[in-house]
Amino acid sequence: MVVLGIESTAHTASVGLVDEGAHVLAVASDMYKPPSGGIHPREAANHHVEVFPSLVERALALSSVRPSEVDAVAFSQGPGLGPCLRAGATVARILSLAWNRPLVPVNHCVAHVEIARVLSGLDDPLLLYASGGNTQVIAYSRGRYRVLGETLDIGIGNFLDKLWIELGGTFPGGPQLEADAKTGSELLPLPYSVHGMDVAFSGMLTAALALSARGARRPDLSYSVEVTAYAMLTEITERALAHLRAEAVVLGGGVACNDRLRGMVRGMTEGRGGTMYAPPRNLCVDNGAMIAWTGLLALRAGQSVPVEGSAVAPRQRTDLVTTPWRGS
Ligand code: AMP
Ligand code: MG
Repeated sequence: MVVLGIESTAHTASVGLVDEGAHVLAVASDMYKPPSGGIHPREAANHHVEVFPSLVERALALSSVRPSEVDAVAFSQGPGLGPCLRAGATVARILSLAWNRPLVPVNHCVAHVEIARVLSGLDDPLLLYASGGNTQVIAYSRGRYRVLGETLDIGIGNFLDKLWIELGGTFPGGPQLEADAKTGSELLPLPYSVHGMDVAFSGMLTAALALSARGARRPDLSYSVEVTAYAMLTEITERALAHLRAEAVVLGGGVACNDRLRGMVRGMTEGRGGTMYAPPRNLCVDNGAMIAWTGLLALRAGQSVPVEGSAVAPRQRTDLVTTPWRGS
């Protein structure tokens, strides 16, 4: 069985093809980069509409899969930005109708867990999902993936991007801030905002900008922000592990490309005698392959929808979707 997956929750338009053995046959992605400032949903959606036809062609060519060999079309149903989701869902509906193949809606956050789960071979890992818009600790319990902890204000990636742009840089800030942090050395005091299993970043944003206005060096700020923010994420991940008496952690989301975050979570998990797995970077960020793989699991469990029932769900909560392939 081969499934084609369409991802378009935010900046990234992506098409992936995956087979039954979880082999990633192709990923073709194109990220919308705003000319200045943050993401504008309508402009990102226009970008996605423009690039999707060539991404579909590229993914098919890369995988040498013919349209007649595609068994189903999966798409990100939510959560995400409405106009962006609708662009991807429209492409998925068209392909499903044109090829006469089932249409399978997929929850984006669940897809991050499932791709990491199959690649790692870990049966029941906890996911630290650190992306632009989302920051969550997710674990499976009694028939659903549940959000155990999350950001109370902005996503970690949006926080890093906003800070970097305010400091004079360009989008996306996370990777550039990572490079800058490597030359920083002084740990500046920043708010460490952990509330039980939740975190918050807007106080750190304000404090970092205030330090910058008072002349703090940017590499020291980048270093301090990384150390403080990733320590917060590591702490809530450890707390979730301890509560669940669990041992395995997987990472997902663009910020999970970060070496310092990977190292800190790995150190914590292995220090407890557990296992940490981070997918290759092209599968950590938003990608069509994770949607295709989760769509394949869902289809095998009998989940598909008619076009009339395929509305996107911008606010879809992880714990509202059923995951019958995981049992109960
Ligand atoms: P996503 O929302 O999952 O597509 O991820 C995009 C976010 O990941 C953006 O906010 C980026 O700044 C951030 N990001 C990507 N690479 C890195 C990195 N190496 N370190 C920190 N943040 C990153
Ligand atoms: Mg994501």
